[in-house]
Amino acid sequence: MGPSSLADLRDGLEAGDLSATFLALGCLDRMAGLEPRLNATVFQDSGLTLAAARAADARLTRGERTPVLGIPMVLKDNLHWKGAPVGNGSRIQRGYRAPYDATVVRRLLEAGAVPVAKANMDEFAMGSSGEHSASGPARNPWDTTRVPGGSSSGSVVSVAAGYAPFALGTDTGGSVRLPGSFCNVTALRPTYGVLSRYGVTAMASSLDIVGPVAGSARDLAAVLSVMAGPDPLDATSVDLPGRERLGDLRPRALKGLRVGLPREYFGEGIDAGVRDVLETALRDLEAQGAELVEVSLPHTPFAIDTYYLINTSEVSSNLSRFDGVRYGARAASDTLDGMIAGTRDAGFGMEAKRRILLGAFCLSKGYYEAFYLKAQKARTLITRDFAAAFGKVDVLATPVSPTTAFPLGERTGDPLAMYLSDVFTVTPALAALPALSMPAGFASGLPVGLQLIGPSLSDVPLLELAHAYQRITKHHTEAPRLDS
Ligand code: GLN
Repeated sequence: MGPSSLADLRDGLEAGDLSATFLALGCLDRMAGLEPRLNATVFQDSGLTLAAARAADARLTRGERTPVLGIPMVLKDNLHWKGAPVGNGSRIQRGYRAPYDATVVRRLLEAGAVPVAKANMDEFAMGSSGEHSASGPARNPWDTTRVPGGSSSGSVVSVAAGYAPFALGTDTGGSVRLPGSFCNVTALRPTYGVLSRYGVTAMASSLDIVGPVAGSARDLAAVLSVMAGPDPLDATSVDLPGRERLGDLRPRALKGLRVGLPREYFGEGIDAGVRDVLETALRDLEAQGAELVEVSLPHTPFAIDTYYLINTSEVSSNLSRFDGVRYGARAASDTLDGMIAGTRDAGFGMEAKRRILLGAFCLSKGYYEAFYLKAQKARTLITRDFAAAFGKVDVLATPVSPTTAFPLGERTGDPLAMYLSDVFTVTPALAALPALSMPAGFASGLPVGLQLIGPSLSDVPLLELAHAYQRITKHHTEAPRLDS
């Protein structure tokens, strides 16, 4: 099986031309052929997968229908899927298996989706390239000498390489949108709270959200329709307005749509090739009647500092639970303190250690006001910038990243350069807004994404807009050549 759309596979399954078991076997086969090159997955269990596929086939035969019944999916390795390992891209959790399903996973399983693999990722979802993984880096299927983007590296590569028509990642500051842009996949960061965080390993809890990735906005909508909805197990979860429109997504009317272009996002530092692609994409929207309006988000220059202060503070607190007592690996020692220190020293990689130290510093007495509290105030100002912009426009369009996928190893020695990859994706995360990355074209043979950001809870109209764009363009249908 090569990249196929979820909608096509569903038609085939419902017509009886395909079976879920046939699709699952095709996925396992494709992974066996391509994984030595791509390293996108960290766990497969053909027994679990085929049992789920057979159950889906029985339901299909009985005439049952759901948006994902019998459809293969890949899950990021920070999501709990009962019985499978939850590795989080780390050594520290080796040996830990999920005792329960994450709410989003449970809803997909109940609707009959078939898990075929767990995906490689940056350790605890910290990273922009996929290289901070205890399993080694996943590779970009468009050019295997380059990074796929992170932290949901394996999830996005799995869709780009045709392992499954959709995958789940998570997005704390850009982790589905950045790899989506690097690999020509459509990726949604929903409004904070639209998807439950129950059973999702916490990195920075005020920013974390599950993000689906797929070949098109239409396919994303189908997946979202199954997962969305409040969850009593996550007090921050909210209902999604317009959810009933997701099942059969209609294109949004472009005529008269006011598309804001934030001045601060189109300044210096963007590669010429990326800029050209984005200009063409914006022209295409304009040609359909959209009105391009320049706006300003004046606190953008503070975004990276704000994000990494809040992120590291929350990381240092969330990761304290990995102490060798409760989960996974444990170092031998005669004393409790020695065991905890030894476990954390051997278990965490460099980036996790860096963030734990930085975050503990930010939160410590005497520095809390200067760093953490100040970052929270800046977060409020960034949020207000967006509110003011949405007084003038319906949606914002920006680059996802200043560059296309960079070569493996280019930024691993320079944490700041790595952090700056997120310069356009952290702001909607800080403001808890929905944002989507969609394929917009190619620069020197590498994919370029366009980011759309909407007001709070406008996830459905945002997908409808991406769908309208994907009806007039073909970029999202381009797939990397992998079969030779
Ligand atoms: N690259 C960002 C970080 O390292 C975002 C990661 C994410 O969204 N999980 O924090």
